[in-house]
Amino acid sequence: MQRTGKRIKNIISIIIMVIAIIAVVIVYKKYYYNDFVKSVKQTNITKFTRDSEVTTGQASSYKIENTDYNDAMFYQTINVTPNTPYKVTCKIKTEGISNETNMQNGGAHISLVGTTVRTVPITGTNDWQEVTLLFNSQNNTQASIGFRLGGYEDSSKGIAWFSDFKVETGVTSNEKTWKFVCFIFPKIDVDVTINGRQEHVNLTMSDNDIQDIRTNIGRFQSSVQSMAKNKMKAEYEIITINEPIKTLSYDEENGYYVSETDVYQLTHQYVKQKEYDHIYVAIRMADKQQGSNTLINDWIGLGGMDYTGIGYSNIRLPDDEQNYAYKFNYQFNTFPEEVFIHEFLHTLERNAKEYGYQIPALHDYAKYGYSEQNLTGLKQWYEDYMNCNISYQGKKIGLPAEVYQYKPVHESNFKYSYQLEVFQEPKNLVEIVKGLFRQVQKLFTYVKDENVEIAK
Ligand SMILES: [Zn+2]
Repeated sequence: MQRTGKRIKNIISIIIMVIAIIAVVIVYKKYYYNDFVKSVKQTNITKFTRDSEVTTGQASSYKIENTDYNDAMFYQTINVTPNTPYKVTCKIKTEGISNETNMQNGGAHISLVGTTVRTVPITGTNDWQEVTLLFNSQNNTQASIGFRLGGYEDSSKGIAWFSDFKVETGVTSNEKTWKFVCFIFPKIDVDVTINGRQEHVNLTMSDNDIQDIRTNIGRFQSSVQSMAKNKMKAEYEIITINEPIKTLSYDEENGYYVSETDVYQLTHQYVKQKEYDHIYVAIRMADKQQGSNTLINDWIGLGGMDYTGIGYSNIRLPDDEQNYAYKFNYQFNTFPEEVFIHEFLHTLERNAKEYGYQIPALHDYAKYGYSEQNLTGLKQWYEDYMNCNISYQGKKIGLPAEVYQYKPVHESNFKYSYQLEVFQEPKNLVEIVKGLFRQVQKLFTYVKDENVEIAK
C-alpha cells in the first residue's frame, strides 16, 4: 500500500513538472521578446506577443496589436561606429491599420528612435513585404532601432507583424557629386479642412510654371557648384509626374505642405533606382489670378525635411502670378534659383548640426550683418555660409567643409557589407536561459505595465 502511495505521489509530481514545463514553454513562445524593450505612448491598449502561426519561417513573428490609436514599438540599442552607413531590414505584415488623423504619417515601420529617420509607414492590410531602413550613424556610437506601429506625429490602430531582422554595415563613398532630382507635380487634387470645413482643391500648373521650375533647377546646378567653390558637384534630373497629388500633410507652423508620404507611391521607384542625394517636389497650391485661393500661404519653399533619410524640400510656385520670385529679370531679380539654394542649405544645416557642429542658423543672416539685396537676395550670405566665411567675433563661421561629404546612405553603400550579430533568435537552450535571465534582470529595471516603457 505504502509503495503504491509513493508511486502515485511520484507520478503526480512528474505530471505537475511536465505541466509546469509546458506552461513555461507556452508563455516563453508567446511572450519572449528577445532583448527588445517595449515602449508605448499610452498603456493598456497595446498587446505585444509572439505569433507562431502568422510568420515567415521557423521563428515566431513579433506582433503588435493596438486595440485603439497608439504609438507602440519594441526597440533595441546597438553599438555603432560613427560616420558609417547602416542598413536594417525586416519583413512586415499588416492588418487593418488606420491613423488617428486620417493622414499618412503613422503606420507600421522601422524607426531610428529619437530621429525623424524611418521607413515610409504601412497602413491598411498587406501581406509580408521586405522593408529597409538606411541611415548613417553620424557622430553617434549607439543607435536605437525600433519596430513601430504608430509614429512620432500620429497614432495608429490595427495589427502589425515583424520578422526576419537583419542589420548590416556598409562603406561611405567619397564621391563629390550630389545627384538632385526635381519632381514636378503639375496637378493637385486634394481634400483639405479649412476652419473646420472640408474643401476640395483641384489645380493644374501652367506651361509657364513648369518652364520656371525647369529654368531655375538648371541655374541652381551651376550656382551651387560655383557658390560652394567646387567643394561639391551637382547633377540634376527633372521628372514630371502627371498623376495628381491626392493628399497633403499639415502642421501648425506652415499649414498644408507635401510630405514624403504624400508622394512616396509615385516617386519611390525613381528614388530607389537612381539613388538621389536631394529631392525637390515642385507644386502649385493656390492661384490668385484663377480664383483658386483656398490654400494661399506665405512660404514658397519648405526644407530641412527628409524622405526616408534623404534631404527633401518643397518648391512652391507663388500663389500670385505677379510675384517675380522665380523669374530672371535684369531689373528685379538675377538670382531666381534662390529658393532651391535656400532649401538645399537647410539640409546641409541640419546634417552639420546632427554631426555635432556648432553653426549659425540659416535664417540668422541679420544677426551677422547681412541683408537682402535688390537683385541677388541673400546670395552673399549663402556663399559665406557655404564656405565658413562669416566673420563673427574675430572668427570665421559657417558650414564645415566635411558637410559636402555627408551624403545620404544608398543601397550602393552595401556592396561590401557585413551582417552584425544582433537581433538574433536564441539558437539553443543555453541562449534561451541566458536571454530569460536578462529579461528577469530587466523586470527589476522597468517596473511598469508588463515591463513596458512609456515613450517620451
Ligand atoms: Zn528657410
